[in-house]
Amino acid sequence: MPGIPEIEGYRKRLDQDTVGQRIRCLDMQRQSGLNVEMERIHDLTLGRLILFVERRGADLIFHLDNGQRLVLRLGQEDELQIDRLEAGPEEEEPTSAASAGKPAFSLRVDSVAVIVAKSRSLQLLLLSAKELDQLQREQGPDPLSRHLTAERFRQRFAKRRSTLKAALMNPALLAGIDSRYADNIAFAAGLPPSVRVDQLQEEDLDRLYLSMIHVLQDAIERQDGDGSAADGSGASYEWGIAGKTGEPCPRCGTPIEEMMIQRKPAYYCPQCQPLPPAVES
Ligand SMILES: [Zn+2]
Repeated sequence: MPGIPEIEGYRKRLDQDTVGQRIRCLDMQRQSGLNVEMERIHDLTLGRLILFVERRGADLIFHLDNGQRLVLRLGQEDELQIDRLEAGPEEEEPTSAASAGKPAFSLRVDSVAVIVAKSRSLQLLLLSAKELDQLQREQGPDPLSRHLTAERFRQRFAKRRSTLKAALMNPALLAGIDSRYADNIAFAAGLPPSVRVDQLQEEDLDRLYLSMIHVLQDAIERQDGDGSAADGSGASYEWGIAGKTGEPCPRCGTPIEEMMIQRKPAYYCPQCQPLPPAVES
């Protein structure tokens, strides 16, 4: 299940392995996940050079030498596989993919194949620079963007009437934070996921901001340390409390509890994440 840290791991590998290479094949099974016809995507991408690979929220963005951008959006269950082609560019897809049938997504550059074997919700968008700008203006900033200062973060969150968890996961406020990281960020900040954002003090929002950066950066660094995280094997990075109902809180040992927020489970430590005193509204 890729969140920002896992997607960042993919981005680093793609940046290392595909930049400076030309797109030789591009295919996607699910046509409904495309924003334009595959034919048009082929016309504008085959033979083009990849200049760099960017991440924004959970989007992976390939910048091509003709000004076009290819945006790959993985679904919740999707895993990206990056294989070096040993026999050179003329070689067909590597055996790992071939044996599993036609993959949901495949991108081949000169010496690397990028594959998503199975997916139900994968999206691939071909956008011009202007269209990408437009799309990004409609979305919240990347949580790790250096433009998102503590002050801007406070401004975005101030006076929101939704719960903290819903706000963290709201793509119009912040790009790419999934349920698991939202729970872990709320835990790191010592705030209950159910608290209403407009009841938080300035200092709470500042702590939330720093916790968000810390949790995401820490997960990214732990992946870097091991190097095997982006291959999809990884259940080994389960820091925090998400999904750990009944297990002892890593801080105080109190059993982790579960509550429903917008009909989805949220996890918290009742001791470390007390409800703040109600304020007059
Ligand atoms: Zn605790």
